[in-house]
Amino acid sequence: GGGLAVRDVVVRYGDASRAGKRGGTTAVDGVSLDVADGEVLALLGPSGCGKSSLLRAVAGLEPVAAGRVLLDGADLAGVPVHRRGFGLMFQEGQLFPHRDVGRNVAYGLQAARVPRAEQEERVRELLDVVGLAGYARRAVVTLSGGERQRVALARALAPRPRLLLLDEPLSALDRGLRERLAVDVRDVLHETGTTAVFVTHDHDEAFTVADRVAVMSAGRLLQVAPPEELWRSP
Ligand code: ADP
Ligand code: ADP
Repeated sequence: GGGLAVRDVVVRYGDASRAGKRGGTTAVDGVSLDVADGEVLALLGPSGCGKSSLLRAVAGLEPVAAGRVLLDGADLAGVPVHRRGFGLMFQEGQLFPHRDVGRNVAYGLQAARVPRAEQEERVRELLDVVGLAGYARRAVVTLSGGERQRVALARALAPRPRLLLLDEPLSALDRGLRERLAVDVRDVLHETGTTAVFVTHDHDEAFTVADRVAVMSAGRLLQVAPPEELWRSP
């Protein structure tokens, strides 16, 4: 079957020969998980447990010290970030402040040399999906924090990424807004049929956005289950 497969992945920082001791950190300590096509998986756990390191390793931004990352059965070892066809979304500060909203959303389409008319149609379509119809000419500086993250989501989705990787995309926003946006993000991902891994330290957020939740602690995976089953687990 298609999808992402993570197999016994280890991510280390510092002196690998001294990992776990002075001088080295094993951030991800042998994690395996699968994300099926069209599935949204939340990676949940406390700060410092290795969520971001695992996501970055999947993206190709961090080297994998051991184990494998496969997409549709193909090993991604040696495949650079920009060749993986993944969309990335981070906490904040990802928009180009000097470009208007439309040009921000069109960024990945320009890079892929999508014809201009198609870019314009896609930008309009995506802004509509994220609830910002009519915002194409707005300057980034005039947007609220929540609106900026909606634009960032539209931009990440515009090239129809094979896999979308979101690293605490709502964590810089205040609580009420976060709850509303979590619902919207879930709807947008399902509406677009996007396969995604969503990193968060917030239980409610994980339970809202995800089809399944993977719980991490100290570099390891504790369990992976749909939200309703996770509640019942010991
Ligand atoms: P989380 O995303 O769950 O907060 P991280 O993956 O960011 O966790 O961090 C996991 C561990 O790896 C932490 O101990 C953190 O301090 C360490 N770490 C993360 N990034 C680096 C880095 N670039 N250099 C050294 N240590 C790092
Ligand atoms: P740049 O000068 O940075 O290359 P362009 O003016 O060429 O930017 O626009 C980049 C892309 O952004 C174009 O493909 C265009 O279709 C899209 N775009 C810009 N503004 C809008 C808008 N108001 N509505 C829809 N698409 C837009």
